[in-house]
Amino acid sequence: MTSAPVSLPVPQVPGRRRAATRARLENRPVDGAKRVLLAAPRGYCAGVDRAVVAVEKALERYGAPVYVRKQIVHNIHVVTELEAKGAIFVDEVDEVPEGAHIVFSAHGVSPAVVQGAADRGLHAIDATCPLVTKVHREAVRFARDDFEILLIGHDGHEEVEGTAGHAPDRVTIVNSPDEADTVQVKDPSKVVWLSQTTLSVDETMETVNRLRTRFPELHNPPSDDICYATQNRQVAIKKVAKDADLVIVVGSANSSNSVRLVEVALEYGAKAAYRVDYADEVKQEWLDGVRTVGVTSGASVPEVLVQEVLEALSEAGYADVDEVRTAEEDLMFSLPKELRQDLSGKRDERALGGRISR
Ligand code: SF4
Repeated sequence: MTSAPVSLPVPQVPGRRRAATRARLENRPVDGAKRVLLAAPRGYCAGVDRAVVAVEKALERYGAPVYVRKQIVHNIHVVTELEAKGAIFVDEVDEVPEGAHIVFSAHGVSPAVVQGAADRGLHAIDATCPLVTKVHREAVRFARDDFEILLIGHDGHEEVEGTAGHAPDRVTIVNSPDEADTVQVKDPSKVVWLSQTTLSVDETMETVNRLRTRFPELHNPPSDDICYATQNRQVAIKKVAKDADLVIVVGSANSSNSVRLVEVALEYGAKAAYRVDYADEVKQEWLDGVRTVGVTSGASVPEVLVQEVLEALSEAGYADVDEVRTAEEDLMFSLPKELRQDLSGKRDERALGGRISR
């Protein structure tokens, strides 16, 4: 049966219009010089870049509409821009007309979703971040080796659902350090922990330590599950936060790594920290008495949105911007295999990503 496509409930106001109409911030005096500390790395990671380019490529190649299961990345602006180009975002594959093209988001999907798409004859393009796929493989391997898997992550988050779906009988989700004190396992000698890729490093280690107190034989994953981009953005904001009266994180409310940046900023010394999608959400009162503003952005945020926040801050007298860089990033991932060749069978020129910031 074919059902009508349903768009995700995201604001339909294009980002550029939002920026052009934003309220101006006043330049009010404070004691001392005003400045901005701009965290780096910030913004787009390799997995997000790849996923967004994958949708754009699919639109170029197959024409609109191209369906995308869930938000391709957790950013309102990105989703809105792709909708304008012809992407249709759906919650589940049964909302997509049979035979259509569907892109799976960077957060990954369970095998059941892949099968559901195949059953409908959909042409699937898998934009799951390779670093999420790595965690999927770990889950499959540990399940095959008879381990119980304690998956540290947020219940209901798409990535957690996708990872748990690779070993549904073996995974128990641990949402918080407190849950580590109560989670039950059948055999404490055959337990491993894995995690969502976008968590707070510190909070995850607290959860692991509390799990290990109860299960001393707890196995570690073969390598970090929290990805390089999440870790790098947290390290950078920690350095900025200690000197900041206010931290502004650009990112959407459903972006796990953006929300974590607000928490980390507060934990590491920022006197206040807020998350905004757009520059027009920066409130005048946040700046009262503020000399140093820290700015960063989550891994799904295009740089243009950060620049708009910097412009708004500049109008308010924060024109002096110092970048605080704690790491260099040059990782790029190949496009999904379904898109690596163009229609004539040649290797696509953007097969290796092609854009980290824009
Ligand atoms: S945040 Fe990390 S896991 Fe998620 S898409 Fe980016 S690189 Fe991949």
